Amino acid sequence: MAVPFLKNPGLYEHYANLDQKGKIMAEYIWIDGDGEIRAKTTTLDKKVKDVKELKEWNFDGSSTNQAEGGNSDVYLRPAAFYPDPFRGGDNIIVIAECWNNDGTPNKTNHRHSCAKSMQQAASHKPWFGIEQEYTLFDIDNKPYGWPKGGFPGPQGPYYCGVGAGKVYARDIIEAHYKACLYAGVNISGINAEVMPSQWEFQVGPCEGIKMGDDMLMARFLLLRVAEDWGVKVSFHPKAVPGDWNGAGCHTNYSTEAMRKEGGMKAIEAAIEKLSKRHSEHIAVYGTDNDQRLTGKHETGHIGQFSSGVANRGASIRIPRHVAAQGFGYLEDRRPASNIDAYQVTDIMVQTTLLL
Ligand code: ADP
Ligand code: MN
Ligand code: MN
Ligand code: MN
Ligand code: MN
Repeated sequence: MAVPFLKNPGLYEHYANLDQKGKIMAEYIWIDGDGEIRAKTTTLDKKVKDVKELKEWNFDGSSTNQAEGGNSDVYLRPAAFYPDPFRGGDNIIVIAECWNNDGTPNKTNHRHSCAKSMQQAASHKPWFGIEQEYTLFDIDNKPYGWPKGGFPGPQGPYYCGVGAGKVYARDIIEAHYKACLYAGVNISGINAEVMPSQWEFQVGPCEGIKMGDDMLMARFLLLRVAEDWGVKVSFHPKAVPGDWNGAGCHTNYSTEAMRKEGGMKAIEAAIEKLSKRHSEHIAVYGTDNDQRLTGKHETGHIGQFSSGVANRGASIRIPRHVAAQGFGYLEDRRPASNIDAYQVTDIMVQTTLLL
């Protein structure tokens, strides 16, 4: 594939097209000690049809803030795999859970607990849809496309904007969308956001553990696509200080009971349960989320739980069309853009179905 930011983008093309002679490249990805994504590749002898065929692997956890130097091996246990849109062919990207030497899940492995919760709640068929907001930056840490040494005009024309001066980096966003579709990530849409160079993609509805997996994969693909353009992706909830919108990960949620005729009762019951565990939820709804949940810029204040129909200033919003038809889903607007989706979907199912 072409690498646009390189001086000689055509050069790589020849090598990308070389025959692999039947070998497969498997890129293992995992979450490191700071919540960032890491990746490394291994060669396999043949095409993979089942995750069970993939080997358990390891890495040096002392280099990723996941283990002490003296006992630094951390194990990578394959959990799911996707077609690789960068290398193409039968090459794959593997989501791996991190496990310690002593058989306990690594501190960054929230997938393990999430998968258990999803199994216990499986009969309720929990669905999620996450709206991932993020901000693009130049390699020199200026918001991407913003005038050098200055600021763009105030917020207003950028949200779902069309046309030069209103949208930035359309090519990166389109490339990411296609990469997600190629990989089989259940991406359901994209839109330009309120702050220039801030964007959103939505993934879902996904049932159970698939939400965390598809979100991790979608983020990896975004980082990797933007890398080809020499552009940085920030998932920080307040990427640019001042009178600019923060970034969230609104988490839409439903159970089978909520999706059926009369489901409003189940939605209200879930909101009642959520209202009693506000601080437990905020604890896993992202770091620096206090900079975003100020009660301004379409957010509810971090210190207080609230809910309402069509209310974008509330913790939980019931979409207007859901209230009108009497069933559907709820939107938890509190999660920040830098959440671990496994942790968030885990606690939502815990609070509303398992406790
Ligand atoms: P907003 O109006 O808040 O910007 P979006 O259209 O960006 O909403 O996102 C809505 C999300 O809700 C999508 O990811 C979609 O997949 C998800 N969704 C739709 N129906 C359900 C449902 N029944 N349960 C859970 N999530 C759902
Ligand atoms: Mn080595
Ligand atoms: Mn949205
Ligand atoms: Mn949004
Ligand atoms: Mn939303």
